[in-house]
Amino acid sequence: MATTKTYDAIVVGTGAGGGTALKILCEAGLNVLALNSGPRTDPEKDYKLHRQSFDLKYRGFGDPTIHNGLAHRERYSVEETEYNEGPHLWEHDVAYSNAVGTNWYWKRCKGTGGKANFWGRSSCRYGDIDFKAASLDGFGEDWPVDYAEISPWFSKAEKYMGVASTIQNRPSNPDGDYLPPIPWRCFDHIMQKAGEKIGVPYLPDRCAQLTVAHNGHPACHYCGNCSQGCDVGSFFSPTWFTIPDAEKTQKLTLVTDALVHKVLVDETGKATGVAYVDRKAKREVEVFAKVIVLAASCVETAHIMLNSKSRHWPSGIANSSGQLGKNLCDHLYGTPGYGYLPQLLGQPPSPDNIADSTVAWLPRWQNLNGAHEEKFIRGYSMYMYGGCGDFPGHYRQIEGFGSSFKREVKRYYPAPISFLIQAPSLPSPANYIDIDPEKKDIFGIPQLRFHFQWGPNELMMWEHSKQVVIDLFKASGGEMWGAGSVPDRPGTSLHETGVCRFGSDPKTSVTNKWAQAWDVPNLYICDSSVFPNPTDKTTTMPIVAFAMRTCDNILANFKKGLHKRA
Ligand SMILES: Cc1cc2nc3c(=O)[nH]c(=O)nc-3n(C[C@H](O)[C@H](O)[C@H](O)COP(=O)(O)OP(=O)(O)OC[C@H]3O[C@@H](n4cnc5c(N)ncnc54)[C@H](O)[C@@H]3O)c2cc1C
Ligand code: SF4
Repeated sequence: MATTKTYDAIVVGTGAGGGTALKILCEAGLNVLALNSGPRTDPEKDYKLHRQSFDLKYRGFGDPTIHNGLAHRERYSVEETEYNEGPHLWEHDVAYSNAVGTNWYWKRCKGTGGKANFWGRSSCRYGDIDFKAASLDGFGEDWPVDYAEISPWFSKAEKYMGVASTIQNRPSNPDGDYLPPIPWRCFDHIMQKAGEKIGVPYLPDRCAQLTVAHNGHPACHYCGNCSQGCDVGSFFSPTWFTIPDAEKTQKLTLVTDALVHKVLVDETGKATGVAYVDRKAKREVEVFAKVIVLAASCVETAHIMLNSKSRHWPSGIANSSGQLGKNLCDHLYGTPGYGYLPQLLGQPPSPDNIADSTVAWLPRWQNLNGAHEEKFIRGYSMYMYGGCGDFPGHYRQIEGFGSSFKREVKRYYPAPISFLIQAPSLPSPANYIDIDPEKKDIFGIPQLRFHFQWGPNELMMWEHSKQVVIDLFKASGGEMWGAGSVPDRPGTSLHETGVCRFGSDPKTSVTNKWAQAWDVPNLYICDSSVFPNPTDKTTTMPIVAFAMRTCDNILANFKKGLHKRA
């Protein structure tokens, strides 16, 4: 079915990137159609906060039968517990493939607002040490944007989102515009001193969580269940921030359960609209606009583009460089060590799991004075878990049963700590996505296929972090229980980048520095697929900042007459 109305812009996806595009474009007066692959997220119905796991039928672990019969059956670890499985906000119907030897874990949130309904909120600026890494260490390519150019949009993003932190004066993570920091937990003070002893920084993270009321959103009340969705909107999420802002303008038409699979083009190869499957009515729909913005989340954006084949674009839309789908990168995640702090044993088990893991972090401290000080290039950061969470995961370390077992679990409650490494992978020709030549999903859409292995550079960082954690345990007087034997599966971090990278040369990149496709000037991208590589920092605040900048450029191009209003 084809509709007759033409919009000024179609935005595919309503997550951190798409939601930002909706806000900026609608507030500028454009008529915008937003398409979202799943249902509307409704915090009142969909979040089960303020309930203890023992109040839930399956004690928070979820119904073991719920994914039977689905194409993609795995339950998504932290994101999909009994707290948020009811409304089916996570994608399990649309299948994907892994090439032989690849074990990619592709977690997708299909509800409006996307993954930032449940994200960890770590929100650091990238710096020139990231943008110009290739010039510093000779590997890969510099970003087409430097810090001076992007920092005004980092400020805009931080001021809008509300990011809590402190000024730290470090080259690896430039300072920004911050709300007061989140108070530290007991173990943070102990580990900060341990870090000082061995020369490893331990600092407040930059966290998009409202320590004070901000832009009409209430201050956090520290209930501690952020990963299950915030029911009052005290951390940045499109559900509470960008989507309502766009709706206020009355310029937004939001269509849910609309799975986009193709960008439509005219006889000159220019984008005219998109085709989607209406998942409820089970029919194909075509919609039209002057400008198309893809923000379906990194690999899905490239999936749509690779599936957008036509006479003009035989290998996928805007792929004259051949770079579409290439350079897939991710953060290597893993647990380089876990144990406990004996000095905290027997302390009152008061709930202080105020913000999961992003209260404090250990920002990159390697290769800061020279690009080749370590055996690996670039660098990694680490986060710490600890404090009194809802569920005492440390029960696994304690032997026994009955009341003495329970007493021991309680005695250890405030003492366990663990580390999480965040190590950026380097672009590699072996790591990419393509279209599976044989498999289609239940809607008949050709499936995405992953090809990915960790490379030697990120594996050296993993080994390095294990030794650092041993040293930190020693310096803090802590006792180690163990360390992860291997890193987590690729895809776990949800910080993938690279598959539509931006650059300065149309021969080696998919878009220009404004995230505008070189080949198709009315096609733009607002997600991390344009970032050429990950850094030691997370991606979401930069996604918001770059999306703001891209949309400012779209508006400028409307003004210049490059795009005409509908
Ligand atoms: C538990 C958890 C912790 C995290 N911690 C952090 C952190 O601390 N810091 C950080 O920076 N990041 C973190 N992240 C990652 C962060 O959430 C993502 O980087 C960010 O949300 C990505 O935004 P996005 O808009 O690109 O994609 P998404 O949020 O995935 O949004 C994509 C949107 O597009 C829609 N869509 C997808 N495919 C289609 C299609 N074919 N047709 C139509 N619509 C489509 C989806 O429904 C969705 O609304 C975390 C994520 C999780 C789940
Ligand atoms: S801790 Fe704060 S931000 Fe997190 S869910 Fe509770 S109120 Fe919301």
